[in-house]
Amino acid sequence: MDIEAIRSEALTCTKCRLAETRTQVVWADGSLDSEVCIIGEAPGFNEDKQGVPFVGAAGQLLDTLLAEIDLDRTQAAIVNVIKCRPPGNRDPQTDEIEACRPYLSAQLNYMRPEVIITLGNFATKFILDSPVGITRARGQVYARKGASIVPTFHPAAALRGGRFGGISTIDAMREDFRLVRNVLDERRAAAEARAATSTESIAADGAEQLDFFG
Ligand code: SF4
Repeated sequence: MDIEAIRSEALTCTKCRLAETRTQVVWADGSLDSEVCIIGEAPGFNEDKQGVPFVGAAGQLLDTLLAEIDLDRTQAAIVNVIKCRPPGNRDPQTDEIEACRPYLSAQLNYMRPEVIITLGNFATKFILDSPVGITRARGQVYARKGASIVPTFHPAAALRGGRFGGISTIDAMREDFRLVRNVLDERRAAAEARAATSTESIAADGAEQLDFFG
């Protein structure tokens, strides 16, 4: 897959009305060659200005949570469900999500990530293909097409405060990120065990992942 060609196409995309009001398309931060993909909702004011997802206070919280599980932005791809800022930070509309779907699908098909962290309702519903809300979905790991999915709150929502299950929303996110660390460690250990015992099983796993997110 020529992901650079798809990125170039996205940067000048006019497939939905958000092209009229954005400053620039926000493609990704971090590395699409990493094993962790973090998916948010849409660019906000600062992201639209800088062309980078998750800058400002929400980005700092995300960086802190990553550091607590020994990761940083160079070890993950950070993307959004839609690549252009909705005016006034309103919710993305269904037709906008559908218009933008091929870009996130291309990013995921290129990456074939081991772990996907979905931040908030829009990303979680998109990836799980389910109407379940984030408060019900979080705290668990889901399997989708070869990846482990870990839903958690959106950092912007956590910064607004509130409590969840007797703890702060930020501490609930901390629990979810610890889940990510555990899943990564387990998947690495399983891959090493497979590599040590059979090259055939690795080939079979690769074949299963050919059709990832469409
Ligand atoms: S939100 Fe997505 S589909 Fe809409 S103009 Fe931006 S890149 Fe294109």
